[in-house]
Amino acid sequence: MAQTYDHGGGVRSLRVPIPDNPLGHTLVYVVDTDRGPVLIDTGWDDPASWDTLAEGLAACGTGPADIHGVVITHHHPDHHGLSGKVREASGAWIAMHAADAAIVRRTRTTRPERWFSYMAAKLTAAGAPDAHVAPLRAARRPSTLPGFSPAAPDREIVPGELLDLAGRRLRAIWTPGHTPGHVCLHLEEEHPAQLPGHGRLFSGDHLLPEITPHIGLYEDPDDTTVTDPLGDYLASLERVAHLVPAEVLPAHQHTFTDAPARVRELLAHHESRLTDLQVLLAEPLTPWQLAERMEWNRPWDQIPYGSRNIAIAEAEAHLRRLVKLGRAEAVAGSEPVAYVAVQ
Ligand SMILES: [Zn+2]
Ligand SMILES: [Zn+2]
Repeated sequence: MAQTYDHGGGVRSLRVPIPDNPLGHTLVYVVDTDRGPVLIDTGWDDPASWDTLAEGLAACGTGPADIHGVVITHHHPDHHGLSGKVREASGAWIAMHAADAAIVRRTRTTRPERWFSYMAAKLTAAGAPDAHVAPLRAARRPSTLPGFSPAAPDREIVPGELLDLAGRRLRAIWTPGHTPGHVCLHLEEEHPAQLPGHGRLFSGDHLLPEITPHIGLYEDPDDTTVTDPLGDYLASLERVAHLVPAEVLPAHQHTFTDAPARVRELLAHHESRLTDLQVLLAEPLTPWQLAERMEWNRPWDQIPYGSRNIAIAEAEAHLRRLVKLGRAEAVAGSEPVAYVAVQ
């Protein structure tokens, strides 16, 4: 049974399930325009999720074949997964920020074994033990792994500009951090319930009411630029707080008000995390050793393999921020590189 919700002012949401994931579902928004309904995100590519999306659209008096366009907050599969199917059904355009569109292009052309080599080299450099890296080395042999091929977008979302939507004012706010091309979308129209503030913000995974999005590294086997995703994320949080939207419509969980208060909580959370890490770095630690000592939702030895890789990326993102702030530095000549706090 499809669950839909009418947010007023020609905006509705559908809950599209994400199979085997504690998040449960993605909130796909349907925004009416003078040229037909436009979707903000599409949901996970799975037959049951597609059926739920189609049923939800039917409950809204429309259907996959009527969709005019698809606006993607970021390239992750719980957001962009069904975009290709929607385009096949309707001929809709798909819009995405250039930085995430580049990741989609790379995903479509990079062979899995190249990705495993990259991950193996990266984890070795982070100080991961051989036992952890070995499965990746084994997997990098040419294999019969199914290719993963997300839909290539055909329009670019340009930061700061209004999207080309007939009869609506929807402005792209670039909010890198969770991904390099994440965007929030600001509906610059009066709130239907006249709540105080400026319009409504579709926040994707950038600003969620009860959880913090994963901030890792912008993994790119072809780019050696030392990026600072956590720094990007914190700056992006301030950017959306300044908009003071009347209501936030996130891609998971539920809508909420007082975005500036939520931003302050998230800034405080990351600041205390950075301070805790600086304390741990009283002794030199590799990213792996730091991740082992950080606080997670369960003890390190109970964290499964894939989640450990995500944890390492998160530790590295925090290390990069500390280095950039001059609060930690690499130990000269260490191999793999260890980091130590600057007192
Ligand atoms: Zn995401
Ligand atoms: Zn998500």
